[in-house]
Amino acid sequence: MKEKMTLPVAKNQEVELEIIDLTHEGTGVGRVEGFTLFVPQAIPGEYVKAKVLKLKKNYGYAKLLEIIRESPERVQPPCPIYEQCGGCALQHMSYAEQLRQKTGIVEDNLRRIGKIDHAVIHPTIGMEEPWRYRNKAQVPIGEQEGGLIGGFYSQGSHRIIDMEACLIQHEKNDEVVQQVKKIAASVGIRAYNEETRKGQLRHVIAKVGFKTGQVMLVLVINEDQLPHQEELVNRLTKSIDGLKSIVVNVNKKNTNVIFGEKTDVIWGEPYIYDYIGETQFAISARSFYQVNPVQTEVLYSKALEYAGLTGSETVIDAYCGIGTISLFLAQKARKVYGVEIVPDAIADAKRNARLNHMDNVEFAVGEAERVIPWWYAQGIRADVVVVDPPRKGCDETLLETLIAMKPERIVYVSCNPSTLARDLAILEGGGYVTHEVQPVDMFPHTVHVENVAWLSLKG
Ligand code: SAH
Repeated sequence: MKEKMTLPVAKNQEVELEIIDLTHEGTGVGRVEGFTLFVPQAIPGEYVKAKVLKLKKNYGYAKLLEIIRESPERVQPPCPIYEQCGGCALQHMSYAEQLRQKTGIVEDNLRRIGKIDHAVIHPTIGMEEPWRYRNKAQVPIGEQEGGLIGGFYSQGSHRIIDMEACLIQHEKNDEVVQQVKKIAASVGIRAYNEETRKGQLRHVIAKVGFKTGQVMLVLVINEDQLPHQEELVNRLTKSIDGLKSIVVNVNKKNTNVIFGEKTDVIWGEPYIYDYIGETQFAISARSFYQVNPVQTEVLYSKALEYAGLTGSETVIDAYCGIGTISLFLAQKARKVYGVEIVPDAIADAKRNARLNHMDNVEFAVGEAERVIPWWYAQGIRADVVVVDPPRKGCDETLLETLIAMKPERIVYVSCNPSTLARDLAILEGGGYVTHEVQPVDMFPHTVHVENVAWLSLKG
């Protein structure tokens, strides 16, 4: 009780404060008599009135009531459902400011967590056209007034809100989802209901190849067989240009996980194709493929530049997924080894290597932190190692193996600046120096920022 009394603000109190920073979740940060308040929707540089909603010992949350002094970077979010959805947390900021904020977040993490102040951190590379960039839509389906709706879950709930267009989604995906809602409803398909566990259609997934225009439709259903399949397929194939594949995935479980285990192609091909640079990739219903193909090319080109390949190098690509980076690098390397934990991804990686007639790549299934030490024990030495781990960063055993193996260059691709900073510090402790970090905006209007860092062995 005593501590509560000493806080400079009280619950429900209205305060005025200057916003001085932005969290990695896109929330404004300000102080009242030294006490930190988080104010969603507020932008650094703004002076605002806010109502204190929740208090903890060292910080609190406040709701934005009024902007007393507005940031020149504030813009009207172009998306009409921006606030309900919450997917694009930064749409109220100009795109230039979003990029500056992302660079700032990277700099802050490297300095604070990694104690790295000697590396050049470049300004974030943004998109010329930062809209309509996603190649995959994943939409939960519900019912309203007898029709099918589909869109997104209202922030923090499981209530589906209907959506006609998502401004960061390729137009084709919006069109596919709209057609499915309309046609499926008219042939009598019902939406799955999470509470009663009745109904058929759970999710619609639309994928489009940006360079090929090929479209894949995946219907996740709550039954073994898609009802009214023939009529549905007939009408969908007539209505959607570019459609190459219709796939059904069966998920009868009471779960938030989208996909079930069984996947069947019910019409057309099992794959659609797309290109990153010159490299072709086969995309299946379940395979992971980068969602922003334009910026993926930018990111991988930077990774390739930092790898400094001349054609004689042996390269290891750790956390290789479906081999996207491996194949990109294999064009300029003597040999590339890729390792990834998901067996299906490695099957896709091998297929993609054949598709591109590349025989200087070898893929292995397993944990990078086990496979790479094993390769090392077999006498495999890499000149360059590329890592692209999930958000939690690299396993420490892997970093120790790299330090022992001493590749001349390490290229670290990261989707999380804080684990990047932590891991760079470990590598620096092991004899590496970080020269440059290039943030790339793979997900405009969201808070995410991807980075590629270039390290080399000291001396
Ligand atoms: N480089 C790929 C994928 C990066 S995402 C691309 O650009 O497309 C990170 C990948 O790491 C995922 O495919 C995930 O399955 C894999 N992964 C996670 N933990 C791993 C581990 N311990 N060892 C190897 N791969 C792992």
